Amino acid sequence: MRDSYGREIDYMRISVTDRCNLRCRYCMPDGVEWIPMEEILTFEEIARLCRVAVKLGITKYKITGGEPLVRRGCPALVRMIREIPGVEQVTMTSNGILLERYLGELLGAGLTDINVSLDTTDRGKYQEITGFDELPRVLRSIRVASEAGLRIKINAVLQTGLNEDAWDGLLSFAREGLADVRFIELMPIGRGADGHMVSNERLFHKIEEHYGPLTADGVSHGNGPAVYYRIADWPRSVGFISAIHGKFCGQCNRLRLGSTGRLKPCLCYEDSLDVRGALRDGSDAEVCEILKKAILGKPRMHCFENTGAVTERQEMAKIGG
Ligand code: SAM
Ligand code: SF4
Repeated sequence: MRDSYGREIDYMRISVTDRCNLRCRYCMPDGVEWIPMEEILTFEEIARLCRVAVKLGITKYKITGGEPLVRRGCPALVRMIREIPGVEQVTMTSNGILLERYLGELLGAGLTDINVSLDTTDRGKYQEITGFDELPRVLRSIRVASEAGLRIKINAVLQTGLNEDAWDGLLSFAREGLADVRFIELMPIGRGADGHMVSNERLFHKIEEHYGPLTADGVSHGNGPAVYYRIADWPRSVGFISAIHGKFCGQCNRLRLGSTGRLKPCLCYEDSLDVRGALRDGSDAEVCEILKKAILGKPRMHCFENTGAVTERQEMAKIGG
């Protein structure tokens, strides 16, 4: 279905929990409030929403969180959505800590692609950013998952004064053919507003100074707003998600579903619609009306460049990235 600005909305990010086994300092350094389980959508409710959404043309889904793999049975949800007729793709974004443990189940459920969020390859720095000494487990997960045939993208957020030099270590995943590497500009959402973003334009020039020209790769690697490049003969690509400096709203294709059933038309604004009530007590037609309202309620663009106008106050862990 098209929104009011003619954009085709075919992608939904589904947050299955606000909880996480890390405390990334720009995301949820103090954890999140405890939510009673009955307020969280069940997998059956999520799958029902997807069955209705598919009929509106939403055929691609990303499972996110919090950390999706801390919710028990998460691979079963991947399978439930994957098996809905008309669904083209189910992917996930994870911090990678539990990836090796659930890899077999995830592959068996039909997961083909995963984004692993990793902001540095330095063990001490990793602990400083996330609060935990888990880098070896994440690196192992990435290697094992890649060898098992899962397509991986590394998502990295760089900040000045913290990990601005981490790009070179992270690029080794692209050089070694393990994963595409994408740099995401820090957004002024939740605790991200306290951080210091590294501009992707500056980073692009730094990488070119070091490795020579980046050539546009021209291949679509997923459903997101990343622009991809190649370095020399490296087997995997380098992507840039320039949330602040590259307004990608013209190509926006998505809705977001929070763990308690709030549908969010745009990352930047607090506006959301409750779909949980209809999923628990209403008909498919009512669920469909709420989905349509959320799609038609999408604003033309975000306003991250003007932080005073950003109305979203929740942590990114509650939104799902
Ligand atoms: N725990 C999972 C993970 O880390 O991939 C999924 C949820 S996490 C909120 C999704 C993504 O949001 C991560 O890649 C994280 O780096 C990113 N993120 C969190 N806060 C952000 C911010 N303020 N600006 C940009 N990206 C942010
Ligand atoms: Fe957890 Fe992901 Fe947020 Fe880090 S970015 S605290 S891994 S939800």
